[in-house]
Amino acid sequence: MVAGYNGKILRVDLSRGKTSVDEPEEGFYRHYMGGRAFVSYYLLRELNGGVDPLGPQNKLIFAGGPVTGIPIAGSGRNSVGAKSPLTNGYGDAEVGGFWGAEFRQAGYDAIIIEGKAERPVYIWIEDGKVEIKDARHLWGKTTGECQKLIQQESGISGVRVAQIGIAGENQVKYACVVNDINHAAGRSGMGAVMGSKNLRAIAVRGRQKVELADSRAVTSLARRIRDILKTHRAAVAMSQNGTAGGLVALNAAGGLPTRNFKEGVFEGAEKISGQLMNESILAGRGGCYACPIRCKPEVSVGEPYNVDPLYGGPEYETLAALGSDCGIDNLEAVAKGNQQCSAYGLDTISTGASIAFAMECFENGILTDKDTDGMKLNFGNAEAMLQMVEMIARREGLGKVLADGVAKAASAFGKGAEEFAMHVKGQEIPMHEPRFKPGLGVGYTISPTGADHCHNIHDSAFTMRVGGALRALGVSEPLPCQELSSAKVRMLVYGSLWQHTLNCMVFCNFVPFTTAQMVELVTGITGWDTNVWELMKVGERCINMERAFNIREGKNKADDYLPKRFFNAFDSGPLKGVGIKEEELVKAIDTYYGMVGWDKEGTPSLAKLQELGIEWVNGA
Ligand code: SF4
Repeated sequence: MVAGYNGKILRVDLSRGKTSVDEPEEGFYRHYMGGRAFVSYYLLRELNGGVDPLGPQNKLIFAGGPVTGIPIAGSGRNSVGAKSPLTNGYGDAEVGGFWGAEFRQAGYDAIIIEGKAERPVYIWIEDGKVEIKDARHLWGKTTGECQKLIQQESGISGVRVAQIGIAGENQVKYACVVNDINHAAGRSGMGAVMGSKNLRAIAVRGRQKVELADSRAVTSLARRIRDILKTHRAAVAMSQNGTAGGLVALNAAGGLPTRNFKEGVFEGAEKISGQLMNESILAGRGGCYACPIRCKPEVSVGEPYNVDPLYGGPEYETLAALGSDCGIDNLEAVAKGNQQCSAYGLDTISTGASIAFAMECFENGILTDKDTDGMKLNFGNAEAMLQMVEMIARREGLGKVLADGVAKAASAFGKGAEEFAMHVKGQEIPMHEPRFKPGLGVGYTISPTGADHCHNIHDSAFTMRVGGALRALGVSEPLPCQELSSAKVRMLVYGSLWQHTLNCMVFCNFVPFTTAQMVELVTGITGWDTNVWELMKVGERCINMERAFNIREGKNKADDYLPKRFFNAFDSGPLKGVGIKEEELVKAIDTYYGMVGWDKEGTPSLAKLQELGIEWVNGA
């Protein structure tokens, strides 16, 4: 048994109704550690290139890391991965809540789901025991109803449920997997993959503790972290406002995505702000396993929207995606949209971005009343936004086209709609403006999952001083926000490597751990005499495996690109005159390739794979 791990990877073959267990060697755990590295390893090893993401050959993987389920702040997370139906490439999302911790305490480190069940099922796991159960009575239910039914029929209130909603059942290509009703593995369409397998939920109950190499050292670190968080400025701000706290400042800087990224300033920003949410509809704050920060809003709204705090509340990405990006300044309607997305299992970012795209198409005559059945799909129409969320989840009317994402919808609409389709590799752009944060924009282009903000740098955080992990890694020079120099690319390379490393542990990037504390934690958990270098090599292996997966799927340098809109300068606001210079972006991408040991086409060199000890990737 490897300390800090259960030593077991569960396999569930839904086609045959069989389960089995792999017991990898310690060398496997030390080389890949967990989370996305497990996901990319198994997808690259076990899928053939070109499989249908929604066919039975795709595999859906839920993975914890060494940190998952250890009682310390930030440890309640897991990865969910598969080939993505949205991008036709590598797909992955990280998610918080309690499910991941419960899963590891139920005796497994990861679960690989293969095949397709004949009829709707859910997987029940209790302290190592696994059953595949009938889920026909759960199909069509909201996530809240489904969780309640599973808890009732098990007779165990502590059971934790990861599940899809009707959007996943209907294989909406950006359907998500939802942990504990209100924590979403949002990106990459993992809910559609789960729906394609007729798998509605995975319910877990775990009463086993993961054995630690040095539990006293881990407990001592957990206590110290708890004390630090009481006064840590960023952690206290997250406790008070969550991610929504930054919306107004972003707007003031001119970087709040507005009306499908046409503008960076939203006149209604104050009306959808985190501050206003705190003063009006906030009912409480929730959080994840063992984390005292509790950064997640829970909101309550009466008639006509009737929002239940059970479904949480809108965080920054949702406020911008369903709010400013759709030109909507009605906080209660946005809260309702957030509830619909949680109840149906929709990624709020791609949902909002798809509706914003349709609104711009409508305002430019590409869509007409005939396409919308008379609905006035203009920016700012909150009722139309809510109706579109319903139609997307149910794949009804125009929602059927938008359910495939903006890239496919633009091809279906024609008439120049591509100009308004804001995506990279098929995944909709998250609510961070690349003209404001161009280093992040480069990160969007290279990200294996298409546009993603979670494993890239946010330039605005490093304009006055550089702290945290980057400083510990030797990047200490602050850089202007809009600069796109080789120094900025270096910042991106180091920042992205560290973020990937956290995603392999699997650890929350809002909990302000130093690199040294992460080493101390992994050492205490596993007993390995490890260091920052070794942990980051795990993240680097992961990036290279993900890249190799995408190359096998036919993606190349041409896919590392931004929508043309970002090359146009803003014509108003604090960033008036600011746009990304195309030649600078191309140069930055080439510089990134060179820095990470990829050739001019963005293919990892054999020498790089050998250096990482994953030369097998070359023939995978
Ligand atoms: S900081 Fe927030 S998201 Fe992260 S673990 Fe804590 S409660 Fe969850």
